[in-house]
Amino acid sequence: MRFVKDEVNTTPIEDTVFAVVKKAKAAIAELGEDRVINATIGSLYDEDEKLVAFETVFHHYDEITKETKAAYAASFTGNDDFREQVYNWVCQNHKLNLKHRVIATPGGTGAVSLCFNELLDEGQTAIIPEIAWGSYALMAEMHNLKIARYSLFKDNHFDMESFQKTCLKVLDEQNKLMVVINDPCHNPTGYSLSIQEWETIIQFLNECGEKAPVVLLNDIAYIDYAYDCQHSRDYLKTLESMSEHVMCVIAFSCSKTLTSYGLRCGAALALSASEEAVRSVEIVFEKTARALWSNIPNAAMDNFTYVTSVDKDAYLAEKAKYVALLKQRSEVFLKEAEEVNLPVYPYKEGFFITVAVPDNSLRDLYHEALMKEQIYTVKVNHGIRVAVCSLSVKHCYGLAERMKDIWDQI
Ligand code: PLP
Repeated sequence: MRFVKDEVNTTPIEDTVFAVVKKAKAAIAELGEDRVINATIGSLYDEDEKLVAFETVFHHYDEITKETKAAYAASFTGNDDFREQVYNWVCQNHKLNLKHRVIATPGGTGAVSLCFNELLDEGQTAIIPEIAWGSYALMAEMHNLKIARYSLFKDNHFDMESFQKTCLKVLDEQNKLMVVINDPCHNPTGYSLSIQEWETIIQFLNECGEKAPVVLLNDIAYIDYAYDCQHSRDYLKTLESMSEHVMCVIAFSCSKTLTSYGLRCGAALALSASEEAVRSVEIVFEKTARALWSNIPNAAMDNFTYVTSVDKDAYLAEKAKYVALLKQRSEVFLKEAEEVNLPVYPYKEGFFITVAVPDNSLRDLYHEALMKEQIYTVKVNHGIRVAVCSLSVKHCYGLAERMKDIWDQI
């Protein structure tokens, strides 16, 4: 007897990450942390390999009154000061010449999911990168969407040709385009597009917009870990040349920005030349929010607003230390990878580096072989993800060489 919807797939989620994390923990318990590389965890960890919870974030959170924590938020779209601060934070000093609306969501996940849920009709196709955060494909499946994937890289740069071909093919088949770009600090390769690449993308999407409405879903989950934080928003200027047939929805995540993954707070920021376009998205997203999760935690919104405005300097100083640490870890790994010829996708910044293994069956063998040598990583499409966000500097040293040796023996 079947109680769930007829068309929903009841095969359980294959949580491959969880299974490897468990193996890594068991190995650490048996052999000690010095003999095991646990490069599986996708959250920011310090040099003692403990989860980072920023002092500047949680000190203030603890001071929020219990009544504020207990209360419902002011509206289904989120508290007004939070919405305004999300816009200010995302754009920093680039006030954009575009109409905008912000809707609070449960993490960046909520913002991305709203787009998959509400912007395409069932049976239509969403476009995502070939190597990508796994939830995009799941969201598409849960909303009865198909997916088309563009290849990410050609000659160590964004594969513009594949991106454009994929968009044009989908546009031939349906009357709307929704394309996901996870940038800057792409998960899991750490690539960030150049301003020029962004310009080309927007120009191309404008051309597509002449045939049908285009939604650019820009997932910026890791933006606040860009190495040149001050210039991490420069690319937003390119959005100003979007025609009125193109709309951008930015998915913002407080989880990463504040190391507050469990507080489930984020936002969707709709940007367009057209007031009507952003207003219609706001209306539909508000209704969906009300129908699905109702409110976002009041205290989480208040905390973001306070930390990123009143306490901004202290927060930025604390975060900067960890951005520097990420940089140090990634530099150690990348330098050695280059020395021993271990191929990695073009990493610029962010939480993860991905070793390039285009053939997925070889990747599976490699992943197993690494585990036999006590190196625990996560399999991604066409690669092996090394989470430098949680790997101490000492564990980064020598890792690329060991990975190359194991590769050579496959
Ligand atoms: N986007 C990407 C690429 C991610 O990796 C994640 C989390 O891992 C998210 C969005 C959403 O995170 P959250 O819902 O915790 O904000």
